[in-house]
Amino acid sequence: MISVRGLGKTYPTAAGPFPALRGVDLDVAQGELVTLVGRSGSGKSTLLHLVAGIDRPSFGTVSVSGTALESIPDSGLAPWRGRAVGIVFQFFQLIPTLTALENVMLPMDLCGTFTAKTRPTRAMELLARVGIERQADKLPSTLSGGEQQRVAIARALANDPPVLVADEPTGNLDSETSAGVAALLQELAAQGKTVLVVTHERD
Ligand code: ADP
Ligand code: MG
Repeated sequence: MISVRGLGKTYPTAAGPFPALRGVDLDVAQGELVTLVGRSGSGKSTLLHLVAGIDRPSFGTVSVSGTALESIPDSGLAPWRGRAVGIVFQFFQLIPTLTALENVMLPMDLCGTFTAKTRPTRAMELLARVGIERQADKLPSTLSGGEQQRVAIARALANDPPVLVADEPTGNLDSETSAGVAALLQELAAQGKTVLVVTHERD
């Protein structure tokens, strides 16, 4: 589902070109959960951004669900990403002025997936799937970190993407809550999602 070949990223900086990735190969099969572990600054986020089409590589190729990202024009990348990849961040990145339910509906609204009438029901089902349907009408600031991350995972699933990428999804959670989020990601892989997770935590 994810195939990366000879991938490189060099950032231009004031001090000159800075190589963050130099020739990475990676394959992730459907239904597989792969964790990337490495010290801070080793290029983990850079790799996730290239897989999710948030940024373009300096060299090498990325293919996701059979689509070569270099074949997608810049203007097509965001629409592609909205349907093809679910993204979970360390600091949740929920929209603070939207309720949990509205945050989960947003990707469907933006991408025009599912009919407008069915979106609230689908969002509620996703919140139930991650175990927080009772928090549906709350704003993110009134939820615990673990609850916010569950909303973010539900949002990542909104357009039913085959691939999920998560950048230190438990980096801001206590160990018990982390275990719950890790179990949830494993469950999603067992149900057929392809999951690529960056983490600091060996457990
Ligand atoms: P990690 O997620 O493993 O901590 P990153 O992928 O964020 O690592 O960064 C890898 C390296 O690339 C780091 O040394 C970082 O400082 C550098 N880097 C990341 N983004 C940029 C950027 N936009 N411009 C310049 N350097 C960057
Ligand atoms: Mg990082």
